[in-house]
Amino acid sequence: MSPSRDVGTHPRSLLAYQRDPYLRKLETNVRAAGHDENGNWVELTDTILYPEGGGQPADHGWIGAAAVIDVQHVSNTIRHVIDGEPPQGRVEVAVDWDRRFDHMQQHTGQHLLTAVALDRFGFRTTAFHLGPEVSDIELDNPGIQTTTLREIEAAVAAEIRAARSVRDRWVMPEAMANLPVRTRGLPEGHSGLVRLVEIDDLDLNTCGGTHLRSTAELETIALVGTEPMRGGTRVHFVFGGRVRSRLAAHEQRGALLRDLLGAPDADLPAVAELKLEQLKQAQREGRRLREQLAELLAGGLTASMDPVATCHLDAGQVDLLRPLASRLAGGCGPAAFLLAADDGTFAVALGESCTIEVTELGQLVAKILEGKGGGRNRLFQGKADHPELLEAAAAAVRDALRN
Ligand SMILES: [Zn+2]
Repeated sequence: MSPSRDVGTHPRSLLAYQRDPYLRKLETNVRAAGHDENGNWVELTDTILYPEGGGQPADHGWIGAAAVIDVQHVSNTIRHVIDGEPPQGRVEVAVDWDRRFDHMQQHTGQHLLTAVALDRFGFRTTAFHLGPEVSDIELDNPGIQTTTLREIEAAVAAEIRAARSVRDRWVMPEAMANLPVRTRGLPEGHSGLVRLVEIDDLDLNTCGGTHLRSTAELETIALVGTEPMRGGTRVHFVFGGRVRSRLAAHEQRGALLRDLLGAPDADLPAVAELKLEQLKQAQREGRRLREQLAELLAGGLTASMDPVATCHLDAGQVDLLRPLASRLAGGCGPAAFLLAADDGTFAVALGESCTIEVTELGQLVAKILEGKGGGRNRLFQGKADHPELLEAAAAAVRDALRN
């Protein structure tokens, strides 16, 4: 069913998506096909697929068996970018209806939201963006508060319940001067009839997009956030199906969090805050204990009578390697300390008695452990494939020290 029109004039060359935005299938002919930087394209004698424009994204759909992945105005024609070989002759065109209806909800919703924001609150819309999950408008008023958002929502919801009809009609540009049209700006180079979209008794606007028949089909609105924008406020919104899918996702996350944190919805922020504070405390305590343990281990290693002392750390002690190595470098006891951890990190720390350069011994150890690293100030650190060969490396360092 196409929306009723109260004015008889309209262009002779209206396309199917303009005649009836609820048409899901159409038989038509391929007029031309080709290839450009976007891929294979097809031009049709008529189409139900909306080409990107006016803030509304392009439809997706099918021409025969070929998927349509983009639709664009090119010069005076509409190109359907397809995935696959261009079909020929008579074809059936189908629109991805879920995607289109979602766009119709968000786009028509924006008309209503903009009208209500201006008429009831005095906020003028300066920009509109239809996103894949959330859309937004920019209002020319900075610092719109949450209480105002809830009032705007309630006012829009009342207009949804009022089930106002949405119609389009075509007028000559001169006739617009006598009509209460909000946006008079026309695309550059526009000539001929102009399409007006009217929400019964509420709004009259120029627009080329696809719209619902009635505000009732918007179902519901949710304003889901704001951010400051160039002296105004960007308001994020969802209508209809997006409200339901968003709520379902929230509920799923809520259930997961209730389960994880063992608390009801209302207590989740406080419980999460408490758990994060406990985690910070545990991390501080962990650091303190590691320092203590490094101190104890360093004491044991410096007491060794061997000129080369070794220490192998298992996977749970990897974080000990650095604090331990830095304590040993330049200290008393053995001439060299070789440390390696299960994850492949290793270190060579030289005691005060060692007269060989740290990079020389470090490279020797790195070669045996099959790794790489660098060093200065009596400390060489690196990463190796075979930390388990630490004793073999120690033997080589002992030889080097003897020579
Ligand atoms: Zn529109």
